[in-house]
Amino acid sequence: MTLSYTREQHPSPRSDAEREAILADPGFGNHFTDHMVTATWNRDGGWHDGRVHPFGPIAMSPAAAVLHYAQEVFEGMKAYRHEDGSVWTFRPEANAARMARSAQRLALPTLSEEDFVGSLRALVETDEAWVPAYGTGETSLYLRPFMYASEAFLGVRPAHEVTYSVIASPAGAYFTGGLTPVKLWVSEHYARAGEGGTGSAKCGGNYASSLAGQLEGIDHGCDQAVFLDSATHTYIEELGGMNLFFVTSDGRLRTPALTGSILEGITRDSILTLAKDLDLQPEEDRITIDEWKDGVASGEITEIFACGTAAVITPVGELRWDGGSAASTAGEGGGEVTRSIRSRLLDIQYGRAEDTRGWLTRLA
Ligand SMILES: *Cc1c(COP(=O)(O)O)cnc(C)c1O
Repeated sequence: MTLSYTREQHPSPRSDAEREAILADPGFGNHFTDHMVTATWNRDGGWHDGRVHPFGPIAMSPAAAVLHYAQEVFEGMKAYRHEDGSVWTFRPEANAARMARSAQRLALPTLSEEDFVGSLRALVETDEAWVPAYGTGETSLYLRPFMYASEAFLGVRPAHEVTYSVIASPAGAYFTGGLTPVKLWVSEHYARAGEGGTGSAKCGGNYASSLAGQLEGIDHGCDQAVFLDSATHTYIEELGGMNLFFVTSDGRLRTPALTGSILEGITRDSILTLAKDLDLQPEEDRITIDEWKDGVASGEITEIFACGTAAVITPVGELRWDGGSAASTAGEGGGEVTRSIRSRLLDIQYGRAEDTRGWLTRLA
């Protein structure tokens, strides 16, 4: 059955002037639109009670299972305004499929692709005025669908009552310093995921377990941490919320292979597909941290970048670890390949280049 939505308009939405002031400098994740979407699932009724309603606090029992056992998954995507005023999103069927996989791993119910995309459309239609205008750089409306165990029960088992919501947040460039290369810290003591764990599910728990490594990095003057495989601490996996790519002097575009503990980024997958257009040879394999250190020193690795929906593509500069560092491959703004992949992706998302692969879906 397809979810339908009742609509409850916000009694006092932000004024046009207030909204425009926020859209002029949204930052990332600071401001939220006037409405949100919510639907409920229970064992007997399946998904029901779809609502578009005013954005606001969620009332739940202090015994709600998510607060104790972290049974939760989420997604992250963007709505882009095109030059003709229409609003589009990028590969939502891939996000829908990933959310279903994440939900299965966390023993949560799944939502059909139709219901997932329908929930985005319901919110974006209602809050369309919050999608930044075309041509303001890299601004978009960030969409955050999430699902959690809302049942009040302290026994340990998959919840019998689950809530799904979508909130939206206008977004400027993710890294406020522009395309300044990020400094990365090799997290040698903390892993974010392990074999058989939840590393390939998009769940809050993975982020919670990445924060200590992230903090260690910040203490050492870095922006983010790189996580290695938890078994041998040898192979590069990813950052706390972004996948990694290496450009080699012989024209290869290398990224760590999906081993089960790496999140299957949709940006990652899109870049592997776009590589051929740019005469790069995409390669998914195991890459050691020593290959990174040695490759930068020998010149075999010419560029390194991180990717994900929120920050798109970010050049990676210096790598630091306990007792050493590897010089940066990236100057200000990143390398040539990094920049050309970045603009190719953005051109498709903002409707400036032809969408030959059917990656865009219209929302409003
Ligand atoms: C969401 C996420 C990514 C990036 O995925 P995209 O689909 O490209 O946004 C990478 N790593 C982790 C851990 C993530 O949660």
